[in-house]
Amino acid sequence: MTAHGAAAPATERPHGAQHSAAQFAAVYGAAPTGIWAAPGRVNLIGEHTDYNDGFVMPLALPHTTLAAASPRTDGVLRLHSGGADGGIVELRLDELRPTPMDTAARSASARGGGGRRAGGWAAYPAGVVWAMREAGLPVGGADLHYDSTVPTGAGLSSSAALEVATAFALNDLYGLGQEPQRLAQLAQRAENAFVGVPCGIMDQTAAACCTGGHALFLDTRDLTRRQIPFDLAGEGLRLLVVDTRVKHELGDGAYAERRAGCERGARALGVRALREVPYAHLDEALAGLAGEPVVQALVRHIVTENHRVEEVIACLDAGRTRAIGPLLTAGHASLRDDFKISCRELDLAVDTALTAGALGARMTGGGFGGSAIVLVEETVAAAVGAAVTEAFAAAGHAAPRIFEAVAGAGAHRVA
Ligand code: ADP
Ligand code: MG
Repeated sequence: MTAHGAAAPATERPHGAQHSAAQFAAVYGAAPTGIWAAPGRVNLIGEHTDYNDGFVMPLALPHTTLAAASPRTDGVLRLHSGGADGGIVELRLDELRPTPMDTAARSASARGGGGRRAGGWAAYPAGVVWAMREAGLPVGGADLHYDSTVPTGAGLSSSAALEVATAFALNDLYGLGQEPQRLAQLAQRAENAFVGVPCGIMDQTAAACCTGGHALFLDTRDLTRRQIPFDLAGEGLRLLVVDTRVKHELGDGAYAERRAGCERGARALGVRALREVPYAHLDEALAGLAGEPVVQALVRHIVTENHRVEEVIACLDAGRTRAIGPLLTAGHASLRDDFKISCRELDLAVDTALTAGALGARMTGGGFGGSAIVLVEETVAAAVGAAVTEAFAAAGHAAPRIFEAVAGAGAHRVA
């Protein structure tokens, strides 16, 4: 077994197929059979709608997780990541059991955690193998090495990138012939049932199904998808990502609470999911929830957010890209005031960007930290980024990481 010392942050690691193959060879003593990539994502609009059967619209980031992999014939799964301490995690396929970890164990997993358990970070890829086998797919053992430039825990979905890279690798290694959307579903099942995170289907679908130069419209009820051209540079625009580098502890419990509140709202309104409440009937629905102000606010967010997704699509279809700015900003207000999942760093990023001339801005991802997105004219992009950095310094927050999001490719084989 090879043990590696403390790892540098993933984004500072040299990245590429060659590097990944060399790392694999250093860890396992032979070249990998192949290398697969899966991206992180930002969600343009449609937040917390995916567990309400609603609409989402993510785009893939150029940041990817690479999985270098070879099959094994002895029923053993070996996992190693340049982004985690602890060396190789070795597991037997027939012993894989879901042992959902608690929040503390999961965050500790970012710092390593290994041995022979499928706990820690290894639960994500091990869960994918488990989910595939549970689904009756003939997956055998494998050696896997991961190398990633997706920031972890920044709301950019490094967990889905890790799962989906694994699913694509095994799908090819074992000739399973599964479609990208199906692989996304297996990856979601891994995260839900094996890791124990009750996420919706957006992140895995984004990692598996996005295409370069497009945002992906996804109806999370029937999984219909539409690739929507999203070439901001061609229009003199930029989409900035502001990673606040904070993650407030509140996050996990609050997610479950919001989810339960939405389900309660749906039950009270007699629908299977809040997606069925038409925007035109929002006032009636809210009146039906009188006396339940918290549920009312959750319902208002979901119903207006689904409507905003439709409005964003209408703008993009009509070539009115700048008009999506106010819709993004309205989405932020809804997440802040109704869904109550923003935090002062996200609000500061959004407010500062807007004051500095951005066309629109909103938090993206689960909330309570993570990242915000900012739509901005190319000519003022640098100034808006600088204003956000200065505001963070003035407020005594750690420096945010700001980069441009260009719609990248979904998961694919790279070597
Ligand atoms: P996000 O998906 O927004 O980045 P999560 O908390 O859902 O945040 O997932 C982050 C976790 O995923 C990390 O704590 C780690 O356990 C795991 N992870 C993601 N990418 C890697 C990687 N390249 N190597 C090892 N673990 C990873
Ligand atoms: Mg995640």
